[in-house]
Amino acid sequence: MSSKRASALEFESAGLSDVGKKRGSNEDSFALAPQHRLFVVADGMGGHAAGEVASRLAVESIERHISGSDPRKEPTIPADFRSPQGDEAALTPPARRVLNAVRLANQEIVRSVRKNREMRGMGTTVVMAYIQGSRAVIGSVGDSRAYLLRDDTLRQITSDHTFVNEQVRAGTLTQSEARKHPARNILTRAVGSQEEVEVDLIEQDLQAGDLLLLCSDGLTSMVEDDGILAALRGSRGDLATSCRALIDLANAKGGDDNVTVVLVRAVGPAKPTD
Ligand code: CA
Repeated sequence: MSSKRASALEFESAGLSDVGKKRGSNEDSFALAPQHRLFVVADGMGGHAAGEVASRLAVESIERHISGSDPRKEPTIPADFRSPQGDEAALTPPARRVLNAVRLANQEIVRSVRKNREMRGMGTTVVMAYIQGSRAVIGSVGDSRAYLLRDDTLRQITSDHTFVNEQVRAGTLTQSEARKHPARNILTRAVGSQEEVEVDLIEQDLQAGDLLLLCSDGLTSMVEDDGILAALRGSRGDLATSCRALIDLANAKGGDDNVTVVLVRAVGPAKPTD
């Protein structure tokens, strides 16, 4: 038994999406691909048909790219990505793979809008986790979020790409003003809305017991972080039950929007196979 194998983490996951209490359709999409250690939430926009199409295209495109690329091979940056993002050569191979996946999704949505003008204005958020070994690469565009629950502390890993969050960061709005601001839904970045997309990439080392939460703003606009933490605490154990509890909580608080949650738990060292 090698020490490397003894320290490898296993993961369990669950996801659930709900239309909420006010909307007629669900524009969110999500994917669980545990065989590729890939987990995605996307929240589409642009009118209900277009929003549904955008989030589904993004999730499918990301899944296709990750599942079709060999994790043992060095990912290359396609030549038609004209504006490189920072020092891409310095990115780890999994981070580069995540970046490529979101860019390809962006291209796919942009092309689909070009073919079908009725889809003009469609775009989507993306938050994804791609785990290699014990490290997760989180990719994010928009205001869907990733959180890490560790040692009973819930921490938001991603930053919202919203007009109000920029004001909060600049010190011109407080968090509680931002939550009630009339322009709180205005995104400063989305997948599919422009030829090029800037993707936040965050690498997070995971340890046994860690829980990753990916969610659309239908959860976080209804439930504050303390409420999310309490719901996760109250439904320890089964992840599907925890997903249900979070969605029920968002709906109990009004359910103004579609709500999607994906939970991924590191369940400790895999048993040695010898
Ligand atoms: Ca939403």
